[in-house]
Amino acid sequence: MNMERRLWHISMFIIKCPYCGKRDHSEFSYGGEAHIVRPKQPTELSDDQWSEYLFMRKNIKGLQYERWNHSHGCRQWFNVARDTSNDKIHSVYKMGEKPPK
Ligand SMILES: [Zn+2]
Repeated sequence: MNMERRLWHISMFIIKCPYCGKRDHSEFSYGGEAHIVRPKQPTELSDDQWSEYLFMRKNIKGLQYERWNHSHGCRQWFNVARDTSNDKIHSVYKMGEKPPK
């Protein structure tokens, strides 16, 4: 394992909880893709449409909008816009707020 790879493994990233402030990412739990809207009439969907809603998620290399929970802190849910290629967090915003441009 080269030095750069080894440093990546011991590095950590900081998430700024909108309620508590900056904390190590180990205090948080990933909650999946953000902004998935439940269908208003699920009984009218085909099985394929329903399984699309339940299981299909983006897996972007780059900026992705995610739900996170401060599970070892205030236990609040919030959204994070994170670049999955380098774990850089572009913004954090509360549930119900629109993602920043
Ligand atoms: Zn918190």
